[in-house]
Amino acid sequence: MLCAVLAGACTAAPSSAPVAHRRAGPPLGDRGPARTLHVVHSVDRVEVGETIQLSALVFEPSGESAPVPVTWSLSDPELGTLTDTGRLTPLEAGRVTVTATAPHAVGAVGLEFVRSPVRRVEVDARKLRLGVGERTVLHATVQGPEGIVLHGRQERWSTLDGDVIGVRTDGTVTARAEGRTSVEVRVEGRVARVEVEVVRRATTDRVDDRRGQQVHVVYAVPRDGADRVLDLSGELERSLGSMQAWLSRQTGGRVLRLDTYRGEVDVTFVRLTRKDAGVGHEGRRVYLRIRGMLAQMGLRDSNKIYAVYYDGSSVKDCGRGGGGLAIAFLHGIAIDGRSCSFGRFAPSATSPAGYMEFLILHEILHAAGFVDEDAPHANDQHHVTGPSTDIMFNGPGAWYPSALDPGHDDYFGENVPDGVRNLADSPYLVRARA
Ligand SMILES: [Zn+2]
Repeated sequence: MLCAVLAGACTAAPSSAPVAHRRAGPPLGDRGPARTLHVVHSVDRVEVGETIQLSALVFEPSGESAPVPVTWSLSDPELGTLTDTGRLTPLEAGRVTVTATAPHAVGAVGLEFVRSPVRRVEVDARKLRLGVGERTVLHATVQGPEGIVLHGRQERWSTLDGDVIGVRTDGTVTARAEGRTSVEVRVEGRVARVEVEVVRRATTDRVDDRRGQQVHVVYAVPRDGADRVLDLSGELERSLGSMQAWLSRQTGGRVLRLDTYRGEVDVTFVRLTRKDAGVGHEGRRVYLRIRGMLAQMGLRDSNKIYAVYYDGSSVKDCGRGGGGLAIAFLHGIAIDGRSCSFGRFAPSATSPAGYMEFLILHEILHAAGFVDEDAPHANDQHHVTGPSTDIMFNGPGAWYPSALDPGHDDYFGENVPDGVRNLADSPYLVRARA
């Protein structure tokens, strides 16, 4: 009879979970017969700092489950915490007994609390590039044997140069001054290190690495716009790298001549003096306003094409280019009503070029005067009328940019008629450095 009761009870418990069971003492007279209580636990060994959920199954002598309240206790409360609902968190290594008590039933289980040695510490970044004043939070992952993740271990964060960055006990890093240093996190003898570079944001066009005609990149935010720090995050550089790689394949190794400062793309950050609404929402107006504001800030070198990523809105346009200025509207609405931000930046310089890369290149080519109105397939808006894969296409139907003048007869290449502007002869195009 006892076996039958236990078998029935055991079937009711989750099959994969070990169960511990103990009959309560003999029936206590008019307080009713003894019930059976099973403590359900998923593991026998619990890592210090982890939390597991225990549960109790109580059965009547008949085998039916008994919906009765359960209370929990831990044999050695110094070794861990156990809540009223059975959540168990070990604090120190050792052996404990967890007891669950219900009316006319008690059950217990022996558990081992273990503290695995730390084998490895990792941080969610290898390198960090911050602007002066910027702040970010680093997270450490602590691993034990066989890669198990350990929780609740004390992390000691520090930096080699407190003048350059400050670091708090929770991994918050604040950039204080220009320079390079590293942040370390130490957990029980294991260390992870992150290289940190703090750069001063460029708000001017810095000294050019090379003279002459070139494309200067600007990240512009309206007065009331959110600053996504795209000039420092590397996103624009990666996107431009992807665009250049595509262009190089199309041109047999030639790329846009980008303005660089000490070997890296010189991106100027501009906080515009007008709010987004004041800049305007119609593409042409946005273009004129931005041109005016850039000129006021000294960004008006006639040898340069300014390629502006505008972190503001527009309607019916995702970009606009002409007269030495190319703009991508990062919160624009396309003519078909879709958001222009459906095009995300290429995640790395080796990723295939996508919408955002083709968009800025399209506008830069407009800014350089392409497509010449006298080109065989040009319309009066400096576009080609086909095919729709041409990056300078604009016409009825969708744009599927994937080729630079595929016939080499409109704006790039050997078949462009004499007297028609040819990108192959443009000073803005240079041979990519190996
Ligand atoms: Zn266009």
